Amino acid sequence: MSTLSIRDLHVSVETDAGSKEILRGVNLDMSQGETHAIMGPNGSGKSTLAYSLAGHPKYHVTQGTAHLDGEDILQMKVDERARAGLFLAMQYPVEVPGVSVSNFLRSAKTALDGEAPSLRHWVKDMKSAMERLKVDPAFAERNVNEGFSGGEKKRHEILQMELLGPKFAVLDETDSGLDVDALKIVSEGVNRVKESTDVGIMLITHYTRILRYVKPDFVHVFVAGRVAEEGGPEMADRLEEEGYDRYVKAAANA
Ligand code: ADP
Ligand code: MG
Ligand code: MG
Repeated sequence: MSTLSIRDLHVSVETDAGSKEILRGVNLDMSQGETHAIMGPNGSGKSTLAYSLAGHPKYHVTQGTAHLDGEDILQMKVDERARAGLFLAMQYPVEVPGVSVSNFLRSAKTALDGEAPSLRHWVKDMKSAMERLKVDPAFAERNVNEGFSGGEKKRHEILQMELLGPKFAVLDETDSGLDVDALKIVSEGVNRVKESTDVGIMLITHYTRILRYVKPDFVHVFVAGRVAEEGGPEMADRLEEEGYDRYVKAAANA
């Protein structure tokens, strides 16, 4: 079974005012097949954690490690991280003008496997994944994220995850901007991938709403650039009632 183990991760970004430390010693352990909710207030560094794992060049790791099955992914190039089994669904997915969803997904799969999937199987897999996510077949020929609604962007992310089959997926605010129907479809998609592939999910969210549909095994409260507390699924209910204030105050006094 695969594991992802983040140790004492410190990350800084360059701003106009100089270098600013955002992650201040993140520790987190996950195994494949588990769902971990990362919950915290805005600005606590949740997206920074996702970007750092993905290898975004703006985020500088100054200390710490993130081992996927014993290999530090922070030392890998972006494409190597994907090949090692890591997948990231971004909070704000980027547009890729001139590249269709269909071509984008096939290229990603080809890069991952080192060879192109047979066209016949691929088209069949893509069609059935799209059907399950209730997206229009015409979606495949549209340019990636260009003019996509919030719901379409998120469905596209889940479509990618479903087709690429990672060991670990980081889903950053996959619930944001979704109405209840879209949230259900996206959540069902996540649950389906969980069941069929045993992926480990890091579900980053500000609200407890998505956790009604995607049940976490563990909840990590993320405040001021690190994990402040960890618990089981019951922690989400407590956060819904009490909010993050207590943790924010404790972090400010630390
Ligand atoms: P969250 O996802 O929890 O809302 P972020 O990781 O987006 O938090 O941001 C954490 C902090 O880091 C914020 O204060 C944000 O302004 C700052 N930050 C994040 N990315 C950048 C960046 N590229 N340049 C400057 N500041 C950044
Ligand atoms: Mg935010
Ligand atoms: Mg964020």
